[in-house]
Amino acid sequence: MKNKKGMALHWRILLGMLAGFVAGFVLLQFDHGKEWTYDWIAPWGKIFVNLLKLIAIPLILASLVKGVSDLKDIAKFKTIGLRTIGLYILTTVLAISIGLITVNVLKPGVGVSKETVDKLEQTYAGNQKIAHKINVAKQQKKQPKLQFLVDIVPDNIFKAMSNNSNMLQVIFFAIFLGITLILIPEHKAAPLKDVFDSLNEAILKMVDLIMLTAPYAVFALITNVIVGTAGDWDLLSSLLRYAFAVVLGLSIMLVVYMLMVKLFTGKNPFWFMKQLAPAQLLAFSSSSSAATLPVTMERVEEHIGVDQEISSFVLPVGATVNMDGTSLYQAVAAVFILQVLWPEGLSFSNQLTIILTALLASIGAAAVPGAGMIMLVIVLEALGFPSEKLPIALALIFAIDRPLDMMRTVINVTGDATVSTIVANSVGKLHTPKPKEWDDNL
Ligand code: ASP
Repeated sequence: MKNKKGMALHWRILLGMLAGFVAGFVLLQFDHGKEWTYDWIAPWGKIFVNLLKLIAIPLILASLVKGVSDLKDIAKFKTIGLRTIGLYILTTVLAISIGLITVNVLKPGVGVSKETVDKLEQTYAGNQKIAHKINVAKQQKKQPKLQFLVDIVPDNIFKAMSNNSNMLQVIFFAIFLGITLILIPEHKAAPLKDVFDSLNEAILKMVDLIMLTAPYAVFALITNVIVGTAGDWDLLSSLLRYAFAVVLGLSIMLVVYMLMVKLFTGKNPFWFMKQLAPAQLLAFSSSSSAATLPVTMERVEEHIGVDQEISSFVLPVGATVNMDGTSLYQAVAAVFILQVLWPEGLSFSNQLTIILTALLASIGAAAVPGAGMIMLVIVLEALGFPSEKLPIALALIFAIDRPLDMMRTVINVTGDATVSTIVANSVGKLHTPKPKEWDDNL
């Protein structure tokens, strides 16, 4: 859809991003550029991300209750559920395997000199953020193996809804309520269904309204990223081969999605990517698939044509458990770290362990910036990586984590959208898209 100037939303967002890059570099030339960005530019990006997070929980609740209660029979829900989980596991294992192949062929860690490692260690090993990530990972490891199931079932729905990281708990409640609405007499279910239907419609409109500001907001987000990573650049160059391995792997994964879309739905993959582009650009700018979720849902439903019965379940679940980009990154990062710091750990069986642990770690990772790095600690520990070397290991990849996080988040979001489209098509729920009367522009 075009606006008055004839420019589609994704181009406007892209322009905002480019302007953000330029502004970031220009501001760095000034003495107080950093503070100025912090005071006057960064808050706009934060407001935008907050707005998206603000509507995520009500959107999940409303659209999932409506989606599930609209299903005519519960057996269908089982089919959808099984296909979704199956495809999520398949794409994640594929992503990890691609990561492993890329890193083993390119061997980015082999050329890293002792001086570089020392320099990275001096700069980052004492870093508070790294110590924090290791601590969080250790806490997670102490819990019972079935803790993830306990965590899905909330003891208080209002408490669950008050914290965005409890998305799975809200999903659980919404499915439970949706199924119950099918089981009670229709006339009793109708009023509540109408409430959720109306709430869902209103929130999808909120997404449109918020997205009108996206080009300006990504400007603020990107300017802040550029200004924030300044100073790390001299060290970044020594990590370029590692970064290249991650980016190459992620690009291959993107091609895999395009092939899957073509093969399983018959849709033109370029058309698919174009419809999804605003969500991908937002994932890139915010590094958070959770914050991007409302936009992903809007794009997939209104612009790709996935029925809400499918998207309302597949996408929120995917945002929390399906992170192909993150798992691919974990595979590359883990092997890179072994190549540099612990070459004796590079056995074939350890690489198999990486497939399993990276799969579980990506399910457990939160959909927020930097979460992948925390879960990497768990992957490394599962390999028997010496724990005293953990701070150095994270120091090695810390400097370049943010740009890679931005890119892997794009893949996380694209993976969810791809699976939802394929599942929808497989149960006859992929329709001709019907964007609302005004949507990407006023
Ligand atoms: N930032 C990623 C996401 O939100 C998670 C990660 O890989 O750190 O999807």
